[in-house]
Amino acid sequence: MDEAPRYCEVALPVPLDRLFWYSLSAPSAKRAHPGCRVQVPFGPRKLVGVVMAVGRKEPDFRVRRVQMVLDQEPTLGPDLLKLGRWIARYYCTPIGEVMRSMLPPPVDIRFKRVVALTAEGEAKARAIVVATGTDTEVLVSLMKKPLTLAYLANRHHGARQAVHRLEERGLVSVQVEVQQRDPTRERGVRLRVSPGDEGDAPDKPDAAERWLLDFLRRNPGRHDLRALTVERRDVVATARRLAKCGAVALEVTRPRRESSLTSEPLVPNPSQEKALEAITAAVRDRRFETFLLHGVTGSGKTEVYLQAIEVALDLGRGALLLVPEIALTPSLASQFFDRFGDLVAVLHSGLTDKHRHDQRQRVLAGLARVVLGTRSAVFAPIRDLGIAIVDEEHDWSYKQSESPRYNGRDVLIVRAQSAGIPVVLGSATPGLESRYNAERGKYTLLQMPTRIMERPLPEVQRVDMRREFTETGHNLLFSRALIQAVRECLARGEQAMILLNRRGFSTYVLCRSCGSRIECPNCSVTLTYHRRDRNLLCHYCDHSSTVPDRCESCGRQYLHFHGSGSEKVEDELGRHFPEASIARLDRDTVRGRDALERILGGFRSGDSNLLVGTQMIAKGHDIPNVTLVCVVDADVGLAWPDFRAAERTFQLLTQVSGRAGRGNKPGRVVMQTMNPDHYAVDLAASQDYEAFYRRECGFRRAFWYPPFSAMAVIVVRSRRLSDAARMSADLADHLLPVRSGMRLLGPASAPMVKLKADYRFQFVLKSAGRNAVAELLGRARRFAVQNRWPATALVLDVDPLDLM
Ligand code: ADP
Ligand code: ZN
Repeated sequence: MDEAPRYCEVALPVPLDRLFWYSLSAPSAKRAHPGCRVQVPFGPRKLVGVVMAVGRKEPDFRVRRVQMVLDQEPTLGPDLLKLGRWIARYYCTPIGEVMRSMLPPPVDIRFKRVVALTAEGEAKARAIVVATGTDTEVLVSLMKKPLTLAYLANRHHGARQAVHRLEERGLVSVQVEVQQRDPTRERGVRLRVSPGDEGDAPDKPDAAERWLLDFLRRNPGRHDLRALTVERRDVVATARRLAKCGAVALEVTRPRRESSLTSEPLVPNPSQEKALEAITAAVRDRRFETFLLHGVTGSGKTEVYLQAIEVALDLGRGALLLVPEIALTPSLASQFFDRFGDLVAVLHSGLTDKHRHDQRQRVLAGLARVVLGTRSAVFAPIRDLGIAIVDEEHDWSYKQSESPRYNGRDVLIVRAQSAGIPVVLGSATPGLESRYNAERGKYTLLQMPTRIMERPLPEVQRVDMRREFTETGHNLLFSRALIQAVRECLARGEQAMILLNRRGFSTYVLCRSCGSRIECPNCSVTLTYHRRDRNLLCHYCDHSSTVPDRCESCGRQYLHFHGSGSEKVEDELGRHFPEASIARLDRDTVRGRDALERILGGFRSGDSNLLVGTQMIAKGHDIPNVTLVCVVDADVGLAWPDFRAAERTFQLLTQVSGRAGRGNKPGRVVMQTMNPDHYAVDLAASQDYEAFYRRECGFRRAFWYPPFSAMAVIVVRSRRLSDAARMSADLADHLLPVRSGMRLLGPASAPMVKLKADYRFQFVLKSAGRNAVAELLGRARRFAVQNRWPATALVLDVDPLDLM
């Protein structure tokens, strides 16, 4: 029997580690393919989920019925369903939560009501000789085929009420159906038309329809609709009409690139050439291989990406490039648009849902074949992917900080592997894991050790702020060397970037009388003073409060403001250089969609000479007139309670230094530090990645940290300290002792014991093998479910980037 499967297994956005079976009505069964969204009853609620599988066999328990199939075509293809299952397994995350994060924003789901005659209604309609009034008019209209309510309401005055009356009398039935925007209707779409089924021609084709059908009979095959408009102007509308009844078939053509593009490929230098040879060979062979493209700042990695993508496009395939959140400025996107025109789609979280949906539709329809996007673009439904690229692969924004806690880079590697295509990881400061994988031969290392045009790397001067203090007797924000360097830079008409990776004005407020600090009521941190907003702000939960005029513990007026953030740097620079125009780039100034590009664009065009900011200024920007980079406090990150503190500091200092001297003039860096001999600072100053890598590997190996072990963190959290402590102790009883080849440390209070009003206890898991990690975390999850812990109480983080 060739009947469609009547049962389906659905992933639902609930924190349960399983799928749910539902039954399908006959019409739904024809449409509920794996990858389609469905609406189903769940308890008293209605939820939208994704069909993961369909089945013919009736489950041996009672199942409820799918209410609606929300997609005409699967929203997620088989490759993405497979990827979703992998993420759920690897990151120990309920499958429904994973699938939810893979789905596009639900803006495309619209409903239409379709009115059809019942058997009784049909008999009634046949008997009507002359329509008298709306009810009979509606019945007669429906005799040929069911119609939408909207259509009827348009044709007949009062049709809505009439349909309601007819439905009451059992003469018509009204079905709610999902209406989807048809990609072939999108603007600018190029369509091809070909003959449909013989039998489906309309009874009485009009002249235009006759012409097209005739044309296709005489010239079988596919034809560009746009070309046919020369023959008949109305052919597009005609073809759409005929496509609806199946008399012709329409498909979207893969657009060719416009030839009028401005940007031509640059002539690669020898190291670009070598990298390209290796990468494009794998693209052509359709072979999975992970390339680690280690190129110093300014070595021309972007050009390598562009030319590798070009090769994939020439083979008729697509490309996906992930970039960090902040690097995706219109200036990067414009390089892609200049090269590939409207084949490019940009996907990131700053877009409106509608815009993101439109971009996704262009990708689904095959109109956009180069996708440029941030983390979640790893799920872009690109057809026939030919190459995958992760720029700045070490970047932390690839890791999602909420469930599912996946790393977009690693997910893309898995996607590339199952698609059998190469993936390129690019960075000037590769993450230790990636570099280690290259050393082990898992990745292929490609190196670009020099800047384009033999431009030198900047010269770095470390300023020991302890000496500065003893020599000047002042504890100042800026050293004499820094002031001098900025002065010279301005005098030459050049530009400088000044980094302090901490936002706000003062980092804490202290009472000189009783010694207490103003803390966040929800988190175990001090509040930061933001002068422009005149408030005290928590950088973890966004709690904000006004600045008190006296100490809340002792009531005296001895409140003092300590520590400095980027806002104070801007302020003090203004005092030293009143003639300079200063811009600031941090999360306080980048509010709203366009702020980032406005500030960066203003700096690029020379409206401002100095750009102050947090790590946001360090990423990817290529501004030729910047010849000086100053680091106000190189040690900010070293204090993090984290085994990655040194790596993170090294990356930030190297990256920000790399912003200097990218044009024809050489660059210079002034780095203020209290720890000039710390290897992260020292080796960043000499820009010696290899030395840093060796040194850091020694430390990681000695303490059995990644990449020498697989790591995960288990956090148990609760509003009440006693509950969090008890639950984590119970969990420890359940999990310990762990088998050999593993170490489970904890429970201990997390470095931030209170975060967003939750008290937190933590376990750190290190293991020789990955399967053992998944197995143990799975046990933790089952324990939480069995003991009816609240869904938010247990956090499992595989490959964590920080241990906050
Ligand atoms: P990276 O991303 O490695 O830091 P970029 O890709 O930003 O470096 O390249 C630095 C600069 O060098 C850019 O302005 C780019 O246009 C230029 N460039 C890249 N490749 C070439 C080349 N082959 N010839 C000339 N200029 C190039
Ligand atoms: Zn807080």
